[in-house]
Amino acid sequence: MSAAKYVIDPPRQAAIPVQGTDALFPVRRIWCVGRNYADHAREMGHDPNREPPFFFQKPTDSIVQNNAAIEYPSKTSDLQHEIELVVAIGKGGRDIPLEKALGHVYGYGVGLDMTRRDLQTEAKKLQRPWEMGKSFDESCPVSALLPVSLAGHPTKGAIWVKVNGETRQTGDLNQQIWQVDEAIAYLSTFVALEPGDIILNGTPAGVAAVKAGDKLHGHIDGLNDLMVSYVAPSGAKAPRNEAVTAK
Ligand code: MN
Repeated sequence: MSAAKYVIDPPRQAAIPVQGTDALFPVRRIWCVGRNYADHAREMGHDPNREPPFFFQKPTDSIVQNNAAIEYPSKTSDLQHEIELVVAIGKGGRDIPLEKALGHVYGYGVGLDMTRRDLQTEAKKLQRPWEMGKSFDESCPVSALLPVSLAGHPTKGAIWVKVNGETRQTGDLNQQIWQVDEAIAYLSTFVALEPGDIILNGTPAGVAAVKAGDKLHGHIDGLNDLMVSYVAPSGAKAPRNEAVTAK
């Protein structure tokens, strides 16, 4: 059978570099966990008791590579950073048992769930979907993944983001209300997970606004640091940061 032809060029495969190899991790879906640190739930005006986690998606092509300069996005005056542990799924499944969940992880990275907070707040108020607040172009910077063979399965350790050298968000992975295995097990009861899915496992307290000219430095103990900067919009019609392409 000959290879399929497309009537237009197919979209580029979004991917994340992996430390120690030229091969890339191809991204299928980006899942984000809402309110997974008690202090952040409180700062957003919610009860931090252990309610089941909830999930939303970012588009796959919102991935931004480490060290990128990102244009300040349209339609917001309150772009905020959310520093998060990135869990890369290497083995799919549905209804994954808790005790087997970590066996589905390929590796870990550091990510930012960038949020147009003004649009998200308006959507919440009007009981509308969150996409325009959460799922916009270039809204998901991610550092190179560390495979489990190098990273283990981090369950504690510092997580922070600095803006222009000043600490904004700071916490510890052990403050996650739902640890990685629990998030995987629960998410897989709603949707089948497949290799290439990534999960951003929520953010600690201290979310705050970013402006053009800011330099963000994200860190989780034992993983690759993430550095991105924001620049003024150029008026270009398409995102400037091309996805990395497999060789
Ligand atoms: Mn988030």
